Amino acid sequence: MKPMGTIPAAFSGEGPLMIGGRSADAWAAEGDTPLFVYDLEVVAAQAAALRSALPGVDIHYAIKANPLPVMVAAVAPLFHGLDVASGGELAIALKSKAASSISFAGPGKKDRELEAAIRAGATINLESSGECDRALAAGARLGVPPRLAVRVNPDFELRGSGMKMGGRASPFGIDAGAAAGVVVRLRAAGADWRGWHIFAGSQSLDSAAIIETQAATIALAARLSEEVGAPPPLVNLGGGFGIPYFAGDTPIDLTAIGAGLASALQARAAILADARFAIELGRYIVGECGVYLTRVIERKESRGETFLVVDGGLHHQLAASGNFGTVVKRNYPVAVATAVAGTPTETVSIVGCLCTPLDRLADRVTLPVARPGDLIAVFLAGAYGLSASPIGFLGHPRPLELIAARRS
Ligand SMILES: *Cc1c(COP(=O)(O)O)cnc(C)c1O
Repeated sequence: MKPMGTIPAAFSGEGPLMIGGRSADAWAAEGDTPLFVYDLEVVAAQAAALRSALPGVDIHYAIKANPLPVMVAAVAPLFHGLDVASGGELAIALKSKAASSISFAGPGKKDRELEAAIRAGATINLESSGECDRALAAGARLGVPPRLAVRVNPDFELRGSGMKMGGRASPFGIDAGAAAGVVVRLRAAGADWRGWHIFAGSQSLDSAAIIETQAATIALAARLSEEVGAPPPLVNLGGGFGIPYFAGDTPIDLTAIGAGLASALQARAAILADARFAIELGRYIVGECGVYLTRVIERKESRGETFLVVDGGLHHQLAASGNFGTVVKRNYPVAVATAVAGTPTETVSIVGCLCTPLDRLADRVTLPVARPGDLIAVFLAGAYGLSASPIGFLGHPRPLELIAARRS
């Protein structure tokens, strides 16, 4: 038997699994399984917690975590801004947010994506000196001064982060030593300099490391601004707030992080006195709101082990199978939807319907007995779920994605 992560509190009640006030069975009856259900009440609760812990700081939603257009439309009003990472995401974001509150990061932006951002008036977070040249040229072609921020490859990284994005050679951002020079150049060319974007890592559960990184990020923004000789309108401090997926993971301490950030901001250098500050988050905002529901097709025994074969799999939930940025396969929280809090009595592996041994949604977990026809819930499916999975692999139909509206 192997442990699994903790079921998010919103879904851990007694009796059958309820999502947004309806049973998992009722959701599944809206179409075929497998399917995703996203509970907006959970997103609204995260938004409220962030706002109260981080007063005065803009909070942006990084939509790559869950770019479903109806989801972005529902989530956008809860936050100050949207961060996008492609021309496709930009088009989705522009339907729900003013361009002045949208920023566009990511390496390898094509000229036509730069032009779309400039035409709309969104801020481009520049990832390289060459991209700065192309953005200035695009602005000149369109006769519009581009709104440009410089993403910095910091000389430190977010400790304890699942995906490190600083302190090393990187496709992301301009090395700290060269960043000010690029700003001087784009300002001289008549662009509208929007400030700094400094993103040091992702999925950290180490609150002390987050606090330390935020302070280092503010200090770096001050130092670079001094080099430029001008105050930045906005400093995007990145984010990296993680959520607990696995046994032993503990949630971050949002209150402590807010207090740490407030004191770092209090002590900031004069050149940042009038800057706005932003945090950008994806997973922390939407990760816990999603539940993936999949039906048991078969129970089978093999060499003394029991397998529940379900109609879903890694083509929809790659991360839960341990094949999206994790080294060791560990178990996401899962449940038998008819008996979330039922007594676990048997050890089973939950395998998907794909013809590959990688397709294992849970490895030797202990659950109440499930039979063919029962629903299995895989939690933490709100971020990097369907859109980060190889949906074309094996040619199964696209699953439904349904939204449970807010109830307050
Ligand atoms: C992916 C990404 C995010 C969101 O990361 P999470 O771990 O989902 O919070 C934020 N900013 C940038 C630049 C990103 O690339």
